[in-house]
Amino acid sequence: MLSEQLIPTEAAMPAYAEKLLPQIKSLNMVGLSGPLGAGKTTLVRGLLRAMGYGGAVKSPTYGLVESYKVAELEVAHFDLYRLADPDELEFIGFSDYIGDGNLCLIEWPEKGGKWTAGLDLMITLTPSDGGRKISIESDLQP
Ligand code: ADP
Ligand code: MG
Repeated sequence: MLSEQLIPTEAAMPAYAEKLLPQIKSLNMVGLSGPLGAGKTTLVRGLLRAMGYGGAVKSPTYGLVESYKVAELEVAHFDLYRLADPDELEFIGFSDYIGDGNLCLIEWPEKGGKWTAGLDLMITLTPSDGGRKISIESDLQP
């Protein structure tokens, strides 16, 4: 099922992330799709805040991944935009991030090839009317 919502401003993103969190925190691999500037990192920041993480959440664009330990959860935030070959993920130990108690939030999952073929959920962000339309392929509603 597809849930779709327009989030009109950046300031409204944290509240949306808070509603979304219960649906995704027990998942393993969540994709965030959408063009540059769509708000993918902003949503990840909101999710980490909602989990209780108080530190800075920066875009992992230049390092591919930023890791966070929040309560009992290990969160890995990937940005695969600069990935030239999906098999680079083998060398950064991608498979070590996938496992019980780990949540991987993956920007540009379409660049990951077979490594990201098993997404549990895809979140698609689209600029719309100055805000962002957020679509979720899931059986659940935020
Ligand atoms: P991405 O990670 O998809 O490249 P970012 O999260 O870095 O995008 O966000 C890009 C810009 O979009 C930021 O300047 C942010 O202020 C803005 N933005 C994020 N969410 C919204 C929203 N719901 N409505 C309007 N602007 C937003
Ligand atoms: Mg980003």
